[in-house]
Amino acid sequence: MTDTVKVGFVPFSAAPRGILVVFCDDTLQFGPATRKTLGAAVSLVRRAAETNQFKGKSAAALDILAPEGLKAKRLIVMGVGKLKEVKDNDFLKLGGSAAGKLRAGNDAVTIVAELPTGAMTPDQAAALTSGLRLRAYKFDRYKTKKKEGEEEVLRADVAIAVGDVAAARKAFAPSAHIVDGVITARDLVNEPPNVLFPVEFARRAGQLRELGVGVEVLDVKAMTKLGMGALLGVAQGSTQPGRTVIMRWNGGKRGDQPVAFVGKGVCFDTGGISIKPAASMEDMKGDMGGAACVVGLMHALAARKAKVNVVGAIGLVENMPGGNAQRPGDIVTSMSGQTIEIINTDAEGRLVLADVLWYVAKKIKPKFMVDLATLTGAIMVALGTEYAGLFSNNDELAERLTKSGLVTGERVWRMPLGPEYDKLIDSQFADVKNAGNRNGGSITAAQFLQRFVDGTPWAHLDIAGTAMGAPKTEINQSWGSGYGVRLLERLVADYYEAK
Ligand code: MN
Ligand code: ZN
Repeated sequence: MTDTVKVGFVPFSAAPRGILVVFCDDTLQFGPATRKTLGAAVSLVRRAAETNQFKGKSAAALDILAPEGLKAKRLIVMGVGKLKEVKDNDFLKLGGSAAGKLRAGNDAVTIVAELPTGAMTPDQAAALTSGLRLRAYKFDRYKTKKKEGEEEVLRADVAIAVGDVAAARKAFAPSAHIVDGVITARDLVNEPPNVLFPVEFARRAGQLRELGVGVEVLDVKAMTKLGMGALLGVAQGSTQPGRTVIMRWNGGKRGDQPVAFVGKGVCFDTGGISIKPAASMEDMKGDMGGAACVVGLMHALAARKAKVNVVGAIGLVENMPGGNAQRPGDIVTSMSGQTIEIINTDAEGRLVLADVLWYVAKKIKPKFMVDLATLTGAIMVALGTEYAGLFSNNDELAERLTKSGLVTGERVWRMPLGPEYDKLIDSQFADVKNAGNRNGGSITAAQFLQRFVDGTPWAHLDIAGTAMGAPKTEINQSWGSGYGVRLLERLVADYYEAK
């Protein structure tokens, strides 16, 4: 895991070390514990604020040499803006902004988790801590030398000063596993495709066994026996064999129907014979962002011992234009028995998912299944990089996903499905074709998937705009964002987990 920040909780009374971070509002007020820590320095800080035109606005910071009398070397005052406007999901961002102010190096840091109104609640302090770790993540394992002035990895030893250490530790314990899950997903997305091919991806998913997850790997022989002709058709153009991985976490009651998450894992997508243009093709190493999210999610749920039965299923292939690659015009038979005419070999993600969704619907029979896929460029045309596209045959599931998106900030926007769109993928020669025309490209992709869910309550998240290359945020500076782990963890926690 590419994670170098150590965090721990200490009482307000602990002496600050190294860099001291405190919070104030837009009237430059501090909480009681902060005032006590700052002591006589408070008036000096207010004067420094004036000369620096620091007004305590949200995410603004005053960064000064620590005034004499303070045990710290540097003092960072972070604004939270108007107190009335501070919402629960701002604390994650606040932690991220605080981490963004720290410089690389080996620093000791103390962050006083207090607002002018008093100590942050344990949940708020936990969110602050999560935000800090998410922001500090950097993927640099392939850099052997640093350029002059290039930001190095933050290696901080961070003490979060809180009102109630035991309560903060308790609140952060599950969050720490969720952060680990996000980092797991980010690492997978960021890995280069020569390192992370299907067999290696399956091996890494196998590491979940250490957390008590059952991991079953289906090789080409097993998938051939199951009749997964749609997935295998994509995989056949590569010298790297495909895999399907089924992960099971049984934290719920024995025999309770599981919930299921399905991920597209195209470890590299050249487009196949319908080859993509060269520009930015390297980004197609991230075409396994859905599968990465499912592995990160399974990590989070298993590590925090979620009281739920959950199955994760990922289809892993490489889409290459080899001598044995499938052609436009080929007709393959999916596990469902439906035949598919290949119109465009670059519309491969839906072929992979067709067989994995069918497998999960038939063999697992889950309460619902949510798939995640970097499926279409068209979803970026529609929604940019702010929302993932949500398609569903079930209003309750769609509403719950939407709510979880608002709570976590990993937002989804519901898009339509309907028979008028569905008929656009009827094929002249087979039961269905794998691409419609240019219009409504994300919708026809979702219609294709719906033909393979066998009536199971289902939602599809098109994460092509959110899983990788999205603009940097307060809590993410990484190309691979780990999008979806926090969203789906929250969905499970709020609606499907025994309390
Ligand atoms: Mn493609
Ligand atoms: Zn793809």
